[in-house]
Amino acid sequence: MKRILLIATGGTIASEDTGEGLAPGITAAGLLSRAPNLGRGRVVDTVELLALDSTNIRPEHWVMIARCIEENYGSYDGFVITHGTDTLAYTAAALSYMVKASPKPIVLTGAQRPIGVDSTDSKMNLEDAFLCAESDMPGVSIVFDHKVILGTRAKKTRSKSFSAFSSINYPELGVIRDGEVLRFIRQECAERPEFSTALDTRVALMKLIPGADREVLDFLFERNDAVVIESFGVGGLPEAGGFYDCIGTWRTRGKIAVLTTQVENEGSDLVVYHVGNRLKRELGVMEAYDMTTEAVIAKLMWILGRTKDPVEVSELFYTPVAVDMFPR
Ligand code: ASP
Repeated sequence: MKRILLIATGGTIASEDTGEGLAPGITAAGLLSRAPNLGRGRVVDTVELLALDSTNIRPEHWVMIARCIEENYGSYDGFVITHGTDTLAYTAAALSYMVKASPKPIVLTGAQRPIGVDSTDSKMNLEDAFLCAESDMPGVSIVFDHKVILGTRAKKTRSKSFSAFSSINYPELGVIRDGEVLRFIRQECAERPEFSTALDTRVALMKLIPGADREVLDFLFERNDAVVIESFGVGGLPEAGGFYDCIGTWRTRGKIAVLTTQVENEGSDLVVYHVGNRLKRELGVMEAYDMTTEAVIAKLMWILGRTKDPVEVSELFYTPVAVDMFPR
């Protein structure tokens, strides 16, 4: 019989009505007792790691989850992590870097409606997640609404429907149909995973709006080691307003700048337009290409936890991990 570890962290799936909004209150064992099928034909153990709305999840919680997997790695065939949907894509990306190349499935799931309500999607997501966790589905993935999405490619694209997640710039790994996992893509893995949980959390994100000025950017660079700018289209910054000087100044002080795009699909291509070209050619700004913003943020924290050397940072950033970007 397969052995699965269920790690609970909170989220809607485990939430109850407090009278002042939903909040996590159901334990991992409580989830299992409400979905009794999960315990049939397999051994399931539980860890009550956190009980948080995922809005409250912080990078130190990613580290807790990665360490929990590391401590239990030898004893289980697969892992199911229940998590709020709001920041699930960040956690999935972070785990893809912190637990690299896992031959065992590490499956994140959650729900749009709590497990205690009749219209819940919790049970179906849990059942699908357990099926994936005991199948040949290596690496980190999100299982949601019968889809299996690579951990580095997921994004929450619907705030209410069951179909909450999309796979961005990459096909789904598989689907679950009539209780069977149909795997389209098998993630590459190693014989053993590589655990590395050092993170530098001094990474910030600025979303560009028309008319933005450099002061916000200066503030973010001052307080962080890397700033990601979500710009427009294939990428660029306004030519007025001092952005180029701002970036040039902070780059000479060793800060990392990454351009990405607010457009969900197809990614950046900074050299195409005059507004982006110089950033890359002269100011050493990196670009996210087809990566999700969630993966960019998690990857930078993980890279900067290992090195601050700008050349090494750039090399590591452009080295694909768990197919987070297509090789350039
Ligand atoms: N606010 C919830 C959370 O992220 C939403 C959910 O789980 O669907 O924890």
